[in-house]
Amino acid sequence: MELTHFINGKHVKGTSGRFADVYNPATGEVQAQTPLASAAELAAAVEGAKAAQPKWAATNPQRRARVLMEFVRLLHRDMDKLAEALSREHGKTLPDAKGDVIRGLEVAEFCIGAPHLLKGEYTDGAGPGIDMYSMRQPLGVVAGITPFNFPAMIPMWKFCPAIACGNAFILKPSERDPSVPLMLAELMLEGGLPEGILQVVNGDKEAVDAILDHPDVEAVGFVGSTPIAAYIYARGCENGKRVQCFGGAKNHMIVMPDADLDQAADALIGAGYGAAGERCMAISVAVPVGEATADALIERLIPRIEKLKVGPYTAGNDVDYGPVVTSAARDKILGLIGSGVEQGAELVVDGRDFSLQGYENGFFVGPCLFDKATKDMDIYRQEIFGPVLTTVRAKTYEEALGLAMDHEYGNGTAIFTRDGDTARDFASRINIGMVGVNVPIPVPLAYHTFGGWKKSAFGDLNQHGPDAFRFYTRTKTVTARWPSGTKEGAEFSIPTMG
Ligand code: NAD
Repeated sequence: MELTHFINGKHVKGTSGRFADVYNPATGEVQAQTPLASAAELAAAVEGAKAAQPKWAATNPQRRARVLMEFVRLLHRDMDKLAEALSREHGKTLPDAKGDVIRGLEVAEFCIGAPHLLKGEYTDGAGPGIDMYSMRQPLGVVAGITPFNFPAMIPMWKFCPAIACGNAFILKPSERDPSVPLMLAELMLEGGLPEGILQVVNGDKEAVDAILDHPDVEAVGFVGSTPIAAYIYARGCENGKRVQCFGGAKNHMIVMPDADLDQAADALIGAGYGAAGERCMAISVAVPVGEATADALIERLIPRIEKLKVGPYTAGNDVDYGPVVTSAARDKILGLIGSGVEQGAELVVDGRDFSLQGYENGFFVGPCLFDKATKDMDIYRQEIFGPVLTTVRAKTYEEALGLAMDHEYGNGTAIFTRDGDTARDFASRINIGMVGVNVPIPVPLAYHTFGGWKKSAFGDLNQHGPDAFRFYTRTKTVTARWPSGTKEGAEFSIPTMG
């Protein structure tokens, strides 16, 4: 099957002659081919968006919000279809795929509040006869480049606020699972969005570079790995664009001696192995404090990990997590596990030989647990993005805090404790963007903002929540004085309002 782009309200075949294979990760089969756009195809999408955008910007925000209201209804209507297409290309379980759609849908719901969120500020009588007001205006044509791991949620995090603000949006989704983004664009059109306001351009580096270099693309939002985030941030900024880029992660969960260890172990299982560990908010490092805590935690983790059910999404509720996205991802994960063993960490659960009858060609990796890893090992320094949990034992709270503080990534973290003072100290001192207290995956809800610190984010505004409305608009401030006084002659000193 040959996939398409979605331009000016229509499915459009690729013309570059370049394609990428799209796999079913559970079977290892190629199920579709996605076109990889050339710079000329990207330019055509921008041209259509640029032509459509002024009319959309002039549509009042309440009417724009109604499109999102209808979009939310259509997402619910098509939930099963979306989840199935998502699982088929990504590999995650059906309930998890629905979660992917729902966490995006919640941002669409938040954006229905656009009329309120776009209100400016007003000062009546800022000076004698002078009023001052600000308004938020759309930027024009903006773009989003998104990763494979949340093919529904992250595109919606980007295009819902951008479009609610009155922009036209170019979406360049991951070439590994492009079908759901195309379906989302169809639903936006069905919901009443004018043609050209949401363009889906499939592609790889060539399409991304064309976005970064196109003079009519005013802003770029990116989510993906840190090296690409850094590259896109630098090239986009150099070309004078507004850019926000969110990168990789290595999320630590500190387990204090006073924590409920059964609860902590359950949390680590879900947060470490859910979605095969392919989440930027997955917990990949467990840091028990004290030898006794570490021993008791490992003792609880091992039987839980051994019970994990790994399989294809078609097995329904019988599966805890599925395959990883490609054979290259699997090989990279297996390579890192091998390096952990070589560098001296204890592999207490080894899932490397996992194989599933009937799915021998699927990209499965069995769950792995490392104990006694150290700071210098590759399994600790690098993002593995697979079903591998690494334990680093700390002697004290300060040592555990220091580990998370010193790591180059700063997306999410969590502490498990019964002590409010420790939790409060941790939340206050940690240099990481999203913090959980007895919550392993602290992904903020749509009306708060999502973003990491350090090498996990480039730029100064977060995703969704009020920050998204700031990112996708610019402020204009008007100072107005009405007739009297204008006849009185010129002012030569700088105006002050005193
Ligand atoms: P990726 O960086 O390989 O790809 C992301 C996007 O960039 C894709 O659209 C891809 O086509 C494009 N791209 C890839 N290589 C490129 C290049 N050389 N030049 C220009 N564009 C290029 O990331 P991925 O593997 O799809 O996603 C997994 C990564 O995303 C992980 O590192 C994960 O932590 C991260 N992630 C971060 C967040 C967050 O909010 N911080 C959320 C989800 C995923």
